[in-house]
Amino acid sequence: MAVARIDLKALRFNLDRIRELAPGMRVMAVVKADGYGHGLERVARALAAADAFGVAAIADGLRLRAAGHHNRIVVLSGPDSAADLSEMHRLRLEAVIHHPQQLIWLQEDRGTPQLRVWLKIDTGMHRLGFPPERAQSVYRQLQAMSSVHPEIVVCTHFAASDEFNNPLTRQQIETFTQVTGGWSGEQSLANSAAFLGWPEARKGWLRIGGLLYGLTVAAGHTGEEYGFRPAMRLHTRLLAVNQIGKGERIGYAASWVCPENMPVGVAAIGYGDGYPRAAPSGTPVRVAGVEVPLIGRVSMDLITLDLRAVPDARIGDEVLLWGPELPVERIAEQVGSIAYELTCGVTRRVLAVENGR
Ligand SMILES: *Cc1c(COP(=O)(O)O)cnc(C)c1O
Repeated sequence: MAVARIDLKALRFNLDRIRELAPGMRVMAVVKADGYGHGLERVARALAAADAFGVAAIADGLRLRAAGHHNRIVVLSGPDSAADLSEMHRLRLEAVIHHPQQLIWLQEDRGTPQLRVWLKIDTGMHRLGFPPERAQSVYRQLQAMSSVHPEIVVCTHFAASDEFNNPLTRQQIETFTQVTGGWSGEQSLANSAAFLGWPEARKGWLRIGGLLYGLTVAAGHTGEEYGFRPAMRLHTRLLAVNQIGKGERIGYAASWVCPENMPVGVAAIGYGDGYPRAAPSGTPVRVAGVEVPLIGRVSMDLITLDLRAVPDARIGDEVLLWGPELPVERIAEQVGSIAYELTCGVTRRVLAVENGR
């Protein structure tokens, strides 16, 4: 059976490292998508020292409150109905406000206690946010609303901060600074990539997801290179070791042909567990501590491995798909994706176990 071991100490270590690198700044631990696939409740428990949690949906805020967390919780996508607002008051969730429709709901909102809001400005990503030229008037409008808490955090999100040479990030920072120059409230710009690559974006509230899990999306890099520790170790066992003859074909579509008589391992994991079906032959996997190539198609429950580098591998040996010894960033690169998608994709069939407290 596939197991995802979640290293709670690594999560804590990573939060401490952010704080060390950015003294005096506040850290929102982004725990959306079930804590990037690591398990919302366990991640929140490990990261309870964060100044706030960031979630995408109100349902996650509810789970965090049910687990007893009193931290600030920011719903990054904001309310998508008037009913959401009353739920947010009730659970003391904070709302990212990014659209005129939300202002209409807020205008009619009589909820208590006052809602804390994060005003989002679109500085160039063109996903969520008010255009810069509208920001000032929306800010004033929000400040005048009786149901809105007077301390408004103003924020923006970067489109390409993982490309450390892309000038778009500098332009976005400049636009943000121009618009918010004279405002008194707190600011929030940086996600993980901007935190690493754009020191000018390190101020106010840092919104950190990936790095807390030890992951980076900067192409060709791993979180570990920046001194962070991967928190997930996905492993399983060898189910079979078979000697297969030269010229024989392996697995679905018979896509891989044995170049010689050779040992082929079968491991108990597949796309039903979240291991990407797109992983091509040659994707690295570690068997009993030795790196070997995946061969043939990934099935729902099984993968096949070239064991020529570990001829004495046996049934029951550990098979590591990703973890500290094999960065998930390397696997993501093989499938044209990013580390986040892989850890988010681990399915409920996988047994999650915790390491550390
Ligand atoms: C997901 C998200 C983040 C965190 O991004 P990371 O790259 O994981 O650090 C920050 N801000 C917003 C608005 C997000 O949606």
